Amino acid sequence: MVLPSWVTVARRNDDVIKAGDVIGDFGAKTYDPFARTDSGLLLAEEFSRLDVTRPRKLRDWVLRYGTLDLNNFEGPAAEEWYVATDVEFHEARFGAERDDVRMHLGALVRLSGSRPSLASRVPWQEAWAYPDWMVPERGSWGDRSWEATARLAAFWFNRSVEVALRPSVTLGQAFAFPLSPLIQFRWTSILAPIHLQLYESLRRITEGQSGAALCRECHLPFLQLDGRRTAFCTARERNRHNARNYRLVRTRLAGG
Ligand SMILES: [Zn+2]
Repeated sequence: MVLPSWVTVARRNDDVIKAGDVIGDFGAKTYDPFARTDSGLLLAEEFSRLDVTRPRKLRDWVLRYGTLDLNNFEGPAAEEWYVATDVEFHEARFGAERDDVRMHLGALVRLSGSRPSLASRVPWQEAWAYPDWMVPERGSWGDRSWEATARLAAFWFNRSVEVALRPSVTLGQAFAFPLSPLIQFRWTSILAPIHLQLYESLRRITEGQSGAALCRECHLPFLQLDGRRTAFCTARERNRHNARNYRLVRTRLAGG
């Protein structure tokens, strides 16, 4: 994942740039977007909790984790006539993209909790389906059932996973003998790894496994991409929860 070399968040409107727009250039520094962040979260979860209302916080976040790079990820939007080059970016949609990821995480939690293979499943509610504006062709997705919602999630993730895995492959270490080619993707958009993480969660759900849940401590959604995290979004949250429970038990014992 390619990091920006500098970032600024506009404080006021001018002819081209609106307050809140994020502007910057890409640099040479990269990081592994599948490693857990400093807070112990996956990038998808970290992004879903991003506060876009505070310019300095937003700037620091983009410097640390990267930018949307929508021009290269999904092509320039019609209304964004300012087309950035491949070394610079101009993003006006951090809040909207964050909200989309939040919505997908919420859908994954509900799909996971009411998946057909689960004995103790929560009955699916039609109100949990994606809102109509998310449905590409009205009617062709059938209904607001679990299956139709899972199909729609797959539709959204498939598209972006295809973009995320578009040939951007470089062979590292290709000339050191014995040859051991290392396939590397060079991503400029955080949406590439984020949508891969969401896709993996849905893939597990369609296998009958759990793919996402609400954290028992902070009550925010998190992804279950391996067997290790089942109840809490981070180890820190689990420890906080256990410490409080321990205090409660101790108080009760002391009082009783
Ligand atoms: Zn949590």
